[in-house]
Amino acid sequence: MSAESDAVPRSDRARRFAVVGMGASGVGVFVELVRSLAASDLAADAEIHIFETKERLGAGVAYSTPHDCHLLNMRAGTMSVHADDPGHFVRWLASQEDGTRASSGTDYVPRRLFAVYLQEFFEEALTRARRHGIRVVTHRSMVSDCREDSRGVHLIAGLDHFLFDYSFLCLGDLPSTEYLEFTKVPAYVHSMWHGAGLEAIDPDTTVGILGTSLTAVDALLQLRASGHRGVITCFSRRRSLPKVQGPRVRHTLRHVTEENLRLLTEDHTRKLEFPEVAELFQRELEDGLGLAIDWRRVLTEPSAAFTPTLARDIELAENGQTLWYSILDATSEVVPQVWRSMSADARAAFMTDHLSIWSMFRHCMPLDNAHRLLAMATEGAFQVASGLTAVTYDEERAVFRVEVAPVGGEAAAYDVDHLVNATGTGFALERSDSSLIQNMLMRGDISPHPLGGIDVDFDTMRVARRDGSFSERAFYVGPLTRGVHFYTNSFETNLANAHSAVAALGTLSYAH
Ligand SMILES: Cc1cc2nc3c(=O)[nH]c(=O)nc-3n(C[C@H](O)[C@H](O)[C@H](O)COP(=O)(O)OP(=O)(O)OC[C@H]3O[C@@H](n4cnc5c(N)ncnc54)[C@H](O)[C@@H]3O)c2cc1C
Repeated sequence: MSAESDAVPRSDRARRFAVVGMGASGVGVFVELVRSLAASDLAADAEIHIFETKERLGAGVAYSTPHDCHLLNMRAGTMSVHADDPGHFVRWLASQEDGTRASSGTDYVPRRLFAVYLQEFFEEALTRARRHGIRVVTHRSMVSDCREDSRGVHLIAGLDHFLFDYSFLCLGDLPSTEYLEFTKVPAYVHSMWHGAGLEAIDPDTTVGILGTSLTAVDALLQLRASGHRGVITCFSRRRSLPKVQGPRVRHTLRHVTEENLRLLTEDHTRKLEFPEVAELFQRELEDGLGLAIDWRRVLTEPSAAFTPTLARDIELAENGQTLWYSILDATSEVVPQVWRSMSADARAAFMTDHLSIWSMFRHCMPLDNAHRLLAMATEGAFQVASGLTAVTYDEERAVFRVEVAPVGGEAAAYDVDHLVNATGTGFALERSDSSLIQNMLMRGDISPHPLGGIDVDFDTMRVARRDGSFSERAFYVGPLTRGVHFYTNSFETNLANAHSAVAALGTLSYAH
């Protein structure tokens, strides 16, 4: 496709859409766009252009991993692409030729299977688009700019220029913006999901993993699967390893409800402060569990020894004593509304003071992974050191020095040959290496959310400009809208947001 495509005569009814990025969010947008165009009388005049740098369309970053030890962190029964048919993914797994893929809704399956499932979902929509006369054009290229004027949205990809009526940006996560100073050191892995990963690490060397989140668990298990023999140390500032997921039971929310939010915010005319929100969750948990929680103990737990804690967490999960998980899980649909109801100070306080402990419980690990980790920990294959204070690189000795000062413990320093950054994704737009983000940011066509990531309209995903207005034609869907929707590190939320973005076109595109 060349710049000439811009000059092709178009009927007044023609509609041209761009979807930039074909991970899970891009697939969600594409499928919904096809569904909605197919149901309208505009299908035969519509064109959808897909832009993706990777050859594989539909897998995205999280699910492209080829390693079987990288599991979905949600049960198969919760990962359907059809919100109204939760059993769809489980049936799909059961229908696969390879009998070992048969799964019950409570299993955690390798993420690579979800990529295949997503790709099929995408292919089905592609077939449907063709059947309805919707033209779909795919471009294996990187979009470097997106600018809007009275004619439409102009996209630049390589040397080509395109004009669209609407563009959906689904660019995924940003790699971490921490520890960028080490990116030139060959023994440093900045992101396991972008570029060179753990494969190049010599099995007899010592490895430091920065972080104790689910990504750190993935790193530990991958090193284990590849036969790593050197000692591995996970370093954390405050939090400890994720908790272990037990069986999920149905919980009906009594306190964290839309109705209570409406009452507390006096019909959404005032914002909630942090203690009010904490009390809602506390009541939900204590009422559901039927006991008073020792919050001081829960909040100081990260400093406890990790092996006995992991062993106990496994036991609790196996005995079904993890009702707290089901309660937290039940809140996921309301959480974006809770987040929206909170004052800016309350949200900022949560991010700085409570996010790490929330993540430990909310983003907990599958039981299978917990067993593997416990086996590793018991053999002394890895350890956890909390109270991380500094990391430096000693060029002469070619080692990283990691310093810790744990609460109530002695300061210590560790030398490691390799360092893996598992601190999670970045949210500082101004430090992103995406020229698309940088160009839009520079012109004020997008604006950073005060809590990181990109600012969008809560309901429609239209991007917010620097002047405070919302774009009529450019939408953003994906993890970077965390400041607005909070729970964007789940497929479920991003899929729901993809639907909302396409639904917003209903009043935009067909009205002319
Ligand atoms: C390691 C990991 C594991 C996860 N596991 C789970 C899980 O088990 N369950 C769950 O619900 N959620 C999980 N998540 C959350 C996950 O991020 C979301 O569920 C979802 O996959 C995000 O998809 P996305 O399409 O927004 O982003 P991505 O998958 O990152 O896709 C973005 C795509 O955009 C392309 N792109 C970017 N910029 C451009 C450009 N300028 N031009 C063209 N193409 C571009 C990229 O190449 C990429 O393919 C996980 C996240 C990570 C990081």
